[in-house]
Amino acid sequence: MSANTDELFKNVIAHAKEYGFVFPSSEIYDGLSAVYDYGQNGAELKNNIKTYWWKAMVQLNDNIVGIDSAIFMHPKIWKASGHVDGFSDPMIDNKDSKKRYRADQLLEDKIAEYDASYQTDLAERLQIEMDKALKNEDLPRLKELILEEGIACPISKTTNWTDVRQFNLMFSTQVGAVAEESDTIYLRPETAQGIFVNFLNVQKSGRMKIPFGIAQIGKAFRNEVIARQFIIRMREFEQMEMQFFVRPGTQREWFNKWKETRLQWHLALGTDAAKYRYHEHTKLAHYADAAFDIEFEFPFGFKEVEGIHSRTDFDLSQHQQYSGKKMQYFDPEVDPETGKPYGNYVPYVIETSIGLDRMFLLTLINAYEEEDLSTEEKQDSRTVLRLHPCLAPVKAAIFPLTKKDGLPEKAREIMDKLKVEFNIQYEEKDAIGKRYRRQDAIGTPFCITVDHQTLEDNTVTIRHRDSMQQERVPADQLDRIIGDLVSW
Ligand code: ATP
Repeated sequence: MSANTDELFKNVIAHAKEYGFVFPSSEIYDGLSAVYDYGQNGAELKNNIKTYWWKAMVQLNDNIVGIDSAIFMHPKIWKASGHVDGFSDPMIDNKDSKKRYRADQLLEDKIAEYDASYQTDLAERLQIEMDKALKNEDLPRLKELILEEGIACPISKTTNWTDVRQFNLMFSTQVGAVAEESDTIYLRPETAQGIFVNFLNVQKSGRMKIPFGIAQIGKAFRNEVIARQFIIRMREFEQMEMQFFVRPGTQREWFNKWKETRLQWHLALGTDAAKYRYHEHTKLAHYADAAFDIEFEFPFGFKEVEGIHSRTDFDLSQHQQYSGKKMQYFDPEVDPETGKPYGNYVPYVIETSIGLDRMFLLTLINAYEEEDLSTEEKQDSRTVLRLHPCLAPVKAAIFPLTKKDGLPEKAREIMDKLKVEFNIQYEEKDAIGKRYRRQDAIGTPFCITVDHQTLEDNTVTIRHRDSMQQERVPADQLDRIIGDLVSW
């Protein structure tokens, strides 16, 4: 990260806290690592991102429906899905500092160090060696690489490492009041399994015909050992996932379609296309026959925001085996090749899985601008969030010009009409210029000022966030003007 981008990222984090977007969790107790709370503006922005996703996926597609499954699930589900045995990271402890690290992260930091000092051949060689060891799950080789590279513990600066061991990322807890009778259950590490186990319930009750999708937004929990980059890697986070069930043999075609459709969803917000790229997985997970990530260029480099995975029939077949219940679909359509119905089969699945918190950070970073407004006469600047109006936490702010002459009452009367439809803020403190700046900082697209003329002809001035231009409009047209810009 260059000094400039480092500075920008720090400023965005500070801004997020100062303006009520994101707070460190349990802050008065010095925080809880890798857990964050969303403040009054953050909660609004997050809800708006969810709505944008839900409308694009569920409302606009008549063959996709949404569900909300429980976080706690039968423990066998995580055995069937492979998470109990395979959802782990290779960890190594430093014997002197007693601190634990992800072995691959230590090596990746070293690769980045080589890259930063233009030793690209060393970086490439280490990358190849590390990828090979990870692919073969060769834990001793990972340790060897750490020792060969002389990687020291960032705290104790010693190279006194334990062996590399696999560390499961699922949080577990007990159900039931009496420990002996209770069972270990897990906090779900992904929302997808709640969709798979409800596949038949939804298909039958909704009379869904293949191809069809089931979408869900919800919390997921992972005991991430490396907590860094703010809300990029959290222990409690939210996912927006959609599983699309298709006829076997058609998965490639649907995979390509969803890969394209999902990128378009990102770009429709007006984000510069050059900031996005696809990353194809060369090391495929055991369940996948194709996988692409959609990556965004954060100030600290390109990072995955969303994964599109062709998951084959792995999950449904596993649940069929572990539950003993048939997870099949009867397809009455006639196969032109055989002239017979396709009949019973376990559907194949294309998954689109986006991290809501990463999307939130992407949105914030992309919108954040420190704008220089200096003229020859005076120096001036503002911090503005150029959020897409449909995502803005507050759609309009209403200011009475002064606190007297009936202006506050008139302003509140206008607000009361608008607030049924839009999230509106009322502000009467400080000079108008200062109030504009506060609204710019949270991305409010419109500021409406009520003045003495309003009392005479019921017109107000409306000031646009991006251009800072003002115009005088009839107050009874405000709902249309705001609605036109902030609607989806
Ligand atoms: P990474 O490689 O960055 O750990 P992943 O490949 O494990 O991510 P998936 O299991 O595919 O991620 O989850 C889908 C999405 O959920 C990711 O694209 C990401 O946006 C989000 N996500 C995953 N782990 C976290 C986390 N710990 N904190 C916040 N978001 C996360």
